[in-house]
Amino acid sequence: MEYNRCGKSGLKLPQISLGLWHNFGSVDSFENAESIAVAAFDKGITHFDLANNYGPVPGSAETNFGKILKNNFQGNLRDEIVISTKAGYTMWDGPYGDWGSRKYMLSSLDQSLKRMDLEYVDIFYSHRFDPETPLEETMTALDYAVRSGKALYAGISNYPPEQTAEAAAILKELGTPCLIHQVKYSMFVRTPEEGLLDVLGEKGIGCIAFSPLAQGLLTDRYLKGIPENSRASKGSFLKPEHITEEKIKVIVALNDIAQGRNQSLAQMALAWLLKDNRITSVLIGASSVGQLQNNIDALGNIDFTQAELNKIEAILAS
Ligand code: NDP
Repeated sequence: MEYNRCGKSGLKLPQISLGLWHNFGSVDSFENAESIAVAAFDKGITHFDLANNYGPVPGSAETNFGKILKNNFQGNLRDEIVISTKAGYTMWDGPYGDWGSRKYMLSSLDQSLKRMDLEYVDIFYSHRFDPETPLEETMTALDYAVRSGKALYAGISNYPPEQTAEAAAILKELGTPCLIHQVKYSMFVRTPEEGLLDVLGEKGIGCIAFSPLAQGLLTDRYLKGIPENSRASKGSFLKPEHITEEKIKVIVALNDIAQGRNQSLAQMALAWLLKDNRITSVLIGASSVGQLQNNIDALGNIDFTQAELNKIEAILAS
């Protein structure tokens, strides 16, 4: 594993990080989840990403991760891993369990620490921009989280470019720089290229790309239909109707290029993101240790010829 500096900070993150959005909830096999997390760390993945609402049920991924830490990461191992959590999406009933108020952000962080049985997280994120709460309030909550020792760094996620620049300016003034932006980015989702990556590059903020495999679409998972137990078969965020004939045509063509590079499509999709040095880490999900290993092996070949890049663009534009 190689570790990239996160923007202009002192913190390095692994090129591949592991997210616990799916496969770590109370509906999933705990043994499988534990084996994925342990294998990840053994292979140099030092960064685990959570949020208050990951499950299902919401909160259960943090509870399970707390158990995994207790079973496997005792003592000084806490100092060898970077744990992040977030608040910003709906978590509990009433007016205080959503969006970006100081009330929500800080009580949610306390709940997350309790669920994971931790004294602090390494990164605390505002999970989304709240157009109805003054940005100063949300950023001051992040600053307080850091000053109170409940988080070591502050991050933002899903913020548009303009609000990212504003948030970074507020945090800088408060003395708690914005460490990182977590954004959806893959061959299939190119929005960060429309201004956000430039802002991050200019301000020296790290970038961690989530759903780099487009939730499994950018793999060989759906080449022969929708397998049982796949994310699309469960139909929560990735639904069978997203897997259209046109999409499969594109996936097949990309898969051919990956084979020409002696890579799986998943490996090529991760390498394609890591070629941009503004990307600190790609934040994958995995439902098995086999998938995890396959993804880590992407790091053996992250270079592209211009001809390959042109072919990929042509396929994506088709
Ligand atoms: P990916 O795009 O990496 O999708 C992961 C899924 O792809 C797996 O569950 C698996 O699907 C399939 N897969 C993974 N590797 C392979 C492989 N080698 N071969 C075949 N199939 C493979 O990421 P996620 O969508 O899971 O998101 C990753 C993380 O990003 C989350 O856990 C979370 O931490 C973060 N995130 C942040 C958000 C935010 O708003 N900030 C929003 C969403 C995610 P299957 O289960 O079908 O086997």
